[in-house]
Amino acid sequence: MTATARPSRSTMAAKAIVESQFDRAATLLSLESYMRRILLSPFREVQVEVPVRMDDGRIEVFTAYRIQHNGARGPCKGGIRYHPEADHDEVLGLAAIMTWKTALMDIPFGGAKGGVTVDPTKLSKLELERLTRRFTQRISIVLGPYRDIPAPDVNTNAQVMAWILDEFSSRHGYTPAAVTGKPISLGGSLGREEATGRGIMYVMMEYARDFGIPLTGARVVIQGFGNVGSHLARLLHTEAGAKVIAVSDVSGGTYKDGGLDVPGLLAHSAAGKPVSEWRDGKAITNDELWTVPCDWLCPCALGGVITRESNATTIDCKVVVEGANEPTTPTADLILEERGVPVIPDFLANAGGVTVSYYEWAQNLQQYRWTHEQVNNELRATITKAYAGVRDLAKQKGVPFRTAAYAIALQRVAEAERLRGN
Ligand code: NAD
Repeated sequence: MTATARPSRSTMAAKAIVESQFDRAATLLSLESYMRRILLSPFREVQVEVPVRMDDGRIEVFTAYRIQHNGARGPCKGGIRYHPEADHDEVLGLAAIMTWKTALMDIPFGGAKGGVTVDPTKLSKLELERLTRRFTQRISIVLGPYRDIPAPDVNTNAQVMAWILDEFSSRHGYTPAAVTGKPISLGGSLGREEATGRGIMYVMMEYARDFGIPLTGARVVIQGFGNVGSHLARLLHTEAGAKVIAVSDVSGGTYKDGGLDVPGLLAHSAAGKPVSEWRDGKAITNDELWTVPCDWLCPCALGGVITRESNATTIDCKVVVEGANEPTTPTADLILEERGVPVIPDFLANAGGVTVSYYEWAQNLQQYRWTHEQVNNELRATITKAYAGVRDLAKQKGVPFRTAAYAIALQRVAEAERLRGN
């Protein structure tokens, strides 16, 4: 079987997905139309051209965005993504999700997102650094620890955050709290790198207990083997005793019914090798990944991968856990609901990253470092409390987890807007 490079994704933009999901919860809350408008519209959008000197002397010009969706509850917060398909509507949708995510976790931030339309695999490390510095220069006027704090997202990492910190600090003085997801030696937080995967595991543990789907020995399928997917696989394997039976990355996937050798696969990936080249499993395509029967299905790559057209009617799992942002289109969501397949929504499941980013920001402002254990304990307490709120409201109103999570978040942001006079 051969592995395909690009699996199918919905062309529905994250913005349209968010708006459709927002409506259902806004109706549940009987939100006034003016408030719906405030909560859906972005506070500020910045689009910049980023000219970059390439290694061969040419100048290439990239388009980039920083969208601050809402700052009623605190400074805007959200990652920066480097991806060829990153565009205005995708970044806007992702910025809105950050507003709901920080509100649901009840951490003192609003929502933002950044994106550069670029294929980073075609850039050298020096070109990537020049791109990051130029982009930071162009948007630094709207950034800052009390304005807007970037973090890593798809194809960006601690090194990219270090360049952002350096560029921002060269203008404003040493400001570690201006960006999170930094290397530990530059003021990053212990536990930040694994935080999204760890938060997903904590939510899965709660759900497993409440709904009687034990994690120990459970069959888990994960799409995406980057920051989120690889840490999730590691933690489920080592701390939850689950059996990770299939994973994939952009190159394709691997499947082993008895459970993959997760430590071996992590070492293989750390050596820069794609998942599709892992030999101790059967090679599968990203499309075939969705056909593997499992208990927990965890999309942890990109948005719009569970769709009516491709897989929503055939997915064979007990629970979908959204590690990625917006992996399920609204129509696919309805199909899963009709089929009785519960979905743990993105801005609950994957909120561990922004929650530990909040601890990183707090540590930078306090000029004090927390232990890894303290970070993990705080994360577990925060995400478990948010989970319990969603579970209880979902039960009380008879709605899916996603609608309950939206209702809690919308209520909090609307309250902050009203208290500020809107
Ligand atoms: P990453 O760049 O570290 O990893 C992305 C992974 O997805 C890689 O393994 C890549 O090969 C794979 N991938 C890319 N395109 C794919 C495709 N078309 N099909 C299958 N696999 C594909 O990114 P990440 O930080 O792990 O983010 C993954 C998702 O999680 C994104 O939706 C992101 O917005 C979301 N998220 C990330 C964080 C975080 O802290 N990094 C927090 C919350 C949500």
